[in-house]
Amino acid sequence: MDLSKHAFFEGKIVPLSDAKINIATHGFLYGTAVFSGMRAYWNDEEKRLFVFRPYDHFHRLLNSARMMAMNIPYDEKGLIQLTLDLLRTDDWHEDIYLRPTIYKADMGIGVRLHDLRDEFSMFVMEFGKYVKNDTNAHLTFSSWRRIDDNVIPARGKVAGAYANSALIKTDANRAGFDEAIVLDNNGHVSEGSAMNIFMVRDGILVTPPSTDNILEGITRRSVIELARNELGLQVLERSIDRTEVFVAEELFMTGTAAQIVAATKVDHRPVGNGVMGPITEKLRGLFDDIVRAKHPKYQSWNVEV
Ligand code: PMP
Repeated sequence: MDLSKHAFFEGKIVPLSDAKINIATHGFLYGTAVFSGMRAYWNDEEKRLFVFRPYDHFHRLLNSARMMAMNIPYDEKGLIQLTLDLLRTDDWHEDIYLRPTIYKADMGIGVRLHDLRDEFSMFVMEFGKYVKNDTNAHLTFSSWRRIDDNVIPARGKVAGAYANSALIKTDANRAGFDEAIVLDNNGHVSEGSAMNIFMVRDGILVTPPSTDNILEGITRRSVIELARNELGLQVLERSIDRTEVFVAEELFMTGTAAQIVAATKVDHRPVGNGVMGPITEKLRGLFDDIVRAKHPKYQSWNVEV
């Protein structure tokens, strides 16, 4: 994966090789950082690059910062401008992934959130598929539980909480699965390691509510809107039991990196008839057009670089 030549670091755009933090930095020692993962898509016919829903990503990032008692001197608009400046510096002509981070930047020991300096950083990389089998993924139920909102803010994207995601992902992959479904402490389906989950049951699209310890995904929100407005589907946000997944007609996961991943098996049981279903396929097609600004109705989601 090719990394950007430049990064935003300590208030300015610098060569990536100069964007370095010290080993004594609080955010590194304690995971006291919040981040976002955004994508920008290259439209090859028009030779133009579009960032997907940056306002929403930065809004969630600033909310995560608020939960972690962090403050930076930028609002959503300022962060979008800074993103455009950074992307123009490296003149990207492919699909890319952006990683903005706000972190506790002081050096030294002492676990807390208050009386510490906050910094904002961002780098970029070339990015293709995140899940290889995105048309026929095999999922397992993780033996790990999703972090609870009373442990680490579940609706915040807190760096330290990704130790949970890493355990989930590695154990699933080493056991031969593409990805895992994670239950919360009440035993309800929460999400994947870094993606939200949807099932189709009796023709209705169902996804866990934002109170079941999910990260409030921007892809999730986009898919809910598309399912309702473009496919005319009923969408329910309600708790999902473990065994409902085995009797679902379709199952898919959503995320910025993952995009829309069709899951066709769960713990060796076929989902529906074992191939990607029609609703998943339609949503994938729509989503790919929309992120490349090919759908006039949703162009407010695309910010041109
Ligand atoms: N859940 C977790 C834990 C994630 O890390 C992500 C990726 N950001 C998602 C869900 C999906 O969110 P989004 O669609 O905003 O990328």
